[in-house]
Amino acid sequence: MEEALDRILVKMNPLGSELVHISETEGRVVSESLIAGISLPPWDNSAMDGYAVKASDLTSASAEAPAVLKCLGESPAGSVSDSVIVPGTCLRVFTGSPMPQGADAVVMQEDTRTLGESDEQVLVLDSVRPFESVRFKGEDVKEGDALVSPGTRVSGFQVSLAMATGLQRCSVHCRPRVGILATGSELCEPGQPLTPGGIYESNRILLKSLVQRAGCEPVVYPIVEDSLEATCQALSKAVEECDAIVTSGGVSVGDYDFIKPAFESLGGEIDFWRIRIKPGKPLVFGEIKSVPVFGLPGNPGSATVTFTLFVHPALVKMGGVSKYQHSHIQGILTESMNNPGNRRLFLRVQLNADREVSMSGRNQASHALGSLATSDGLLSVPEGTVLAQGAPVSVMMWPKLS
Ligand code: AMP
Ligand code: MG
Repeated sequence: MEEALDRILVKMNPLGSELVHISETEGRVVSESLIAGISLPPWDNSAMDGYAVKASDLTSASAEAPAVLKCLGESPAGSVSDSVIVPGTCLRVFTGSPMPQGADAVVMQEDTRTLGESDEQVLVLDSVRPFESVRFKGEDVKEGDALVSPGTRVSGFQVSLAMATGLQRCSVHCRPRVGILATGSELCEPGQPLTPGGIYESNRILLKSLVQRAGCEPVVYPIVEDSLEATCQALSKAVEECDAIVTSGGVSVGDYDFIKPAFESLGGEIDFWRIRIKPGKPLVFGEIKSVPVFGLPGNPGSATVTFTLFVHPALVKMGGVSKYQHSHIQGILTESMNNPGNRRLFLRVQLNADREVSMSGRNQASHALGSLATSDGLLSVPEGTVLAQGAPVSVMMWPKLS
């Protein structure tokens, strides 16, 4: 399994870049550092509604013996006062007001009373420490700081941070376009009457969700019947239009499995076929005209497991992310889990709020959709191993929408 992943990742090259407005970058992967355009805060300002003062005027102020200051006026947020605070004076300020010259602290409104009609006299009922309730220029972010490094998928918080420093445009990796093909002559379009022996096609929507969770743009193609000609036609169209291709079905040893023969007919190259895991053994990986093609088995359980283990990290790398690791959560087994076989077993599991891990359904067969739909992630059980009830385990969580 590790070798297969290495062989895939070595073939994945991050796509080129495009310039986009910073407000459009949530979920995109930056290809250059985001550098703070200005410091935050951009100037010293008040953290409170109150009065800007000189702390030295208030050293002995108390409720019993208030200090009396002359108020020079007010400075609402969004304006700059030219008042200069000298001993015995103060200025009415609000949260976010720039600190006036001469002041070194803010006394909060709750610790003051005003005297007279004009509010010109302010009684201060408590002392303040120098710099109390002042937010300093650059204490949060300094102009020129690197906010986000290249190869990072940008969060909404980071977009907000970058915009606060005045950034407008940035360079992001192009989103990989990923073709999704489902092969199988038994497959019917959902919504159409079922043909005799037919089943509703459900892997393309599954793979679409998974492709989006890898930060890529899905391109969904029509169902492909089981013939070499139809498979070649569909694959060669997708190769022209996409950066990577994911197919489902047709990779086993049956007479109607045409993905591998299609590689050959189209002049592609198969890098490997079959991995020692369960489910997902018949995964095939290769390239056609330098476009990576992942041939997943058709059973939904197998398709999901192989996508998550191999295709997700590959697409994430193609999308420009420099460091990727599946997210894991530690839990405790509520039941023992047994793998008597000689392939690494991946069980669909649930994890509750108490971190108890159990199988998401008794039917863990590769075609079973029920245990997939209720699962939170995968538990890996090495070949020939029993994990005992109560054992600490690490659950690989299904990737989330990024
Ligand atoms: P295959 O990998 O083509 O041998 O398919 C394995 C099993 O998965 C068969 O039972 C197929 O009918 C089923 N299957 C294949 N493709 C799909 C699909 N797109 N949607 C639902 N089931 C599928
Ligand atoms: Mg098939």
